Amino acid sequence: MIYNVSGLLKSNIGYTIEDSFNQLELRRGDVYFNSVIGKIKLIKTDCSIWISGSVIGDFVTICHICLEEINLNFYSKFDDEYFPYNKDLISSKKSLSKMTENKDENLNFIDKKNNINVSSCVFESLYTQIPITVRCEICTK
Ligand SMILES: [Zn+2]
Repeated sequence: MIYNVSGLLKSNIGYTIEDSFNQLELRRGDVYFNSVIGKIKLIKTDCSIWISGSVIGDFVTICHICLEEINLNFYSKFDDEYFPYNKDLISSKKSLSKMTENKDENLNFIDKKNNINVSSCVFESLYTQIPITVRCEICTK
């Protein structure tokens, strides 16, 4: 899920791109979501691109009690902020200093070609929905 934001970075503050995605697969190691569908907004701020959206994904796992395979469905919302690699694209010095002050934090950067890969953000939001102990319907009763 890669978005090129070259045009968006040159747009006015508040300019928004909306998109939707469906039937995606998201994987990290052994953790795997399929039939991932969702909506996303990419919003130009004074110093960054803000993304937000919602996502639904299927997750196949096993019941921790009886080891039957079960299919769970998760919904979650996500928000994240990406800063331009090319600082000339930031509209004000005030914004630039705000960004530089935060350098100790884990900032997300837009790459040199002005692409944002939102896959890990969407993956994380679904991943946090997985309960520590998963039980099938029978074992829950
Ligand atoms: Zn079970």
